[in-house]
Amino acid sequence: MRAGKIALIIFIAVDIVAALLLLPFREWFKQFEQYVQGFGALAPVVVALTYVVTTVLFIPGSALTIGSGTLFGLRTGFLVVFVGANLGALCAFLLARTLLREKVARWAEENPKFHALDLAIGRQGFKMVFLTRLSPAFPFNFLNYLLGITAVKTGAYVLANLLGMLPGMFLYVYIGAAARDALVGQANTTVGFYQQILKYVGLLATVAVVVVVTRIARRALREAEQQQEASMTTGPPRLDAEHKPLAVEKMMLTDDAHDKQLIENCHPPKWVNPAPSGKYNLVVVGAGTAGLVSAAGAAGLGARVALIERSLLGGDCLNVGCVPSKGMIRAARAAFDSRNGTEFGVHSASAPEVSFSSAMERMRRLRAGISAHDSAERFRKLGVDVYLGHGRFEGPSTVAIEGKRLEFDRAVIATGARPAEPPIPGLAQSGFYTNETIFTLTELPRRLAVIGAGPIGCELAQAFQRFGSRVTIITDGVEILPKEDQDAAAVVRKQMDHPTGRR
Ligand SMILES: Cc1cc2nc3c(=O)[nH]c(=O)nc-3n(C[C@H](O)[C@H](O)[C@H](O)COP(=O)(O)OP(=O)(O)OC[C@H]3O[C@@H](n4cnc5c(N)ncnc54)[C@H](O)[C@@H]3O)c2cc1C
Repeated sequence: MRAGKIALIIFIAVDIVAALLLLPFREWFKQFEQYVQGFGALAPVVVALTYVVTTVLFIPGSALTIGSGTLFGLRTGFLVVFVGANLGALCAFLLARTLLREKVARWAEENPKFHALDLAIGRQGFKMVFLTRLSPAFPFNFLNYLLGITAVKTGAYVLANLLGMLPGMFLYVYIGAAARDALVGQANTTVGFYQQILKYVGLLATVAVVVVVTRIARRALREAEQQQEASMTTGPPRLDAEHKPLAVEKMMLTDDAHDKQLIENCHPPKWVNPAPSGKYNLVVVGAGTAGLVSAAGAAGLGARVALIERSLLGGDCLNVGCVPSKGMIRAARAAFDSRNGTEFGVHSASAPEVSFSSAMERMRRLRAGISAHDSAERFRKLGVDVYLGHGRFEGPSTVAIEGKRLEFDRAVIATGARPAEPPIPGLAQSGFYTNETIFTLTELPRRLAVIGAGPIGCELAQAFQRFGSRVTIITDGVEILPKEDQDAAAVVRKQMDHPTGRR
C-alpha cells in the first residue's frame, strides 16, 4: 500500500477519535436515542424499515449504518443493518429488473461492450456481485439498481449480497458501536480506560481487515474481467452481431403480390414471439434448410424445440438461392430450347419472344407457393416455438432473442453464410448485385459481369445469357468450376461458349 493511503487512513481514524472526544455527541446521541426508544421494542424494526426505504430512494445509508451501531450496540445494530440493507438492496434490484431489464437487454444487443459486461455478470453472477460488494469503490445504492438491469440471477445476487456486504457493514456498525461506548463511557466511569483502548485497537484492526479485503477483491475483480474477455474468444459460441442481415425489402419486391405472400409466410409482420415456458430440449438458431430440418426432426421426436430466425424462414435456399435460381434457369432453358428447336426437328416461322419480367414473375409465384412449407405458421403447427429476431448466445445454455432468454439443453447453430464483397477497387462505388438482390430484377440487364466461376456464378451466368444478356464471367483461376474435375469443367465452358447459347 502506498504511504499516501496509509497516511490518509491514519488521518481519518485520528479525526474520528478527535471528533468523538471534542464534539457534543453525548447530547445529540441522547436526543436521537430518546426518539428511537420511543418506539419501544419495535425500534430495531423501525430502523431496519427506514434502511429499506432510504436504500430504495437512493439515499446513502452509511450514516444510518453507523447510527444503528451507536443506538443498539454492535450485535443488535449489526442485525438491524444486515436485514435493512439486504432487503433494501433486493427491493431496488427487483424494481430495476422489472422496469428496465427487457429494454436494456434489447439495447445491449447493439452495444458490444455493455453486452460483454452483461454476459460476464450473467455467467459469473455470484463472483462478480460478491467482489463488487467487497470493494467500496462501487457505491452501494447505485450498484443495486445497476445489477438489476444486468443478466445476474436473483438467487446469486441475494447470496452474494448477504456475504459480500458483511465486512463493510461490520466496519461501519463497529465505528458506531465504538462511538456509543465512547459517549456512554464519558458519562459512566464503570467503563474503564483499558476497555476504551481495546475498542479503538479493535476499530483499527477492523479498518485494516476491510482495506486488505478490498484490495484482494479489486484484484480478483480485475482477473475475473480479464478471464471473461479471454473467454469471449474461446468460450461458448458467439454469433457475429456485426453481420447484420440484409433488410427483407432489399431481397423481395414488397409491392409484388407473390413476394408479399412469401413475407407473410416466412417473416409475418404481425408475428408475436411465444413466451418461453421452461427449458427447451433444443434451440435452433437460423431457419434455413439446415435449421428447418433440425427443428422439424426434433419436434417430430417429441422434443421441446425453439427455432430462431432473424430474416426470412427458408434461408438462402428458398428465398435467394436454390429455388429462385432453379426457377430462373428453367425459364432460361425454355427460351434457349424454343430458339434452338431445329436440331430436334422443331421449326417455327418466327423467332420466339422472351419476356424476362414474365419469367421472373413465374419464379416469384412458384417461390411464394413453396414458401408455405417453410412458413412460421407451419412450424408452429409442428410444435416448434418460432421466434423472429436476432439470436445471441448469452452462455453455454442460454440464447437471448428480442429481450427474452431461452434456456436449452442442446443448440444447433445453422446460421448459414452471407455473400462476401471482394476487395476490388471501385466495386463498391459502381454498385453490384449479390444472390440476395439479383432475384428482385424485373428487367433484363443488357450486359452483365459475373465475378466468380463456381457453380452458382456459372448457372446464373448461363441463365442470363440464355435470356439474352451479354455475360462475362471473371475468375482468377485458369478454368471455370475450380472445385470440379477440370475435364468436366472444360466441357461446361465449351457449352457456355457455344454461339447458340447466346442467341
Ligand atoms: C444462387 C444460389 C443457388 C443455390 N442453388 C443450390 C442448389 O441448387 N442446390 C443446393 O443444394 N444448394 C444450392 N445453394 C446452396 C444452398 O442455398 C445453401 O447450401 C443452403 O441454403 C444452406 O442452408 P443453411 O441452412 O446452412 O443456411 P442458410 O440458408 O443461409 O440459413 C441460415 C439462416 O440463419 C439465419 N441467421 C443467421 N444468423 C442468425 C442469428 N444470429 N439469429 C437468427 N437467425 C440467424 C439467416 O437469416 C438465415 O435465414 C444455392 C445457393 C445460392 C446462393
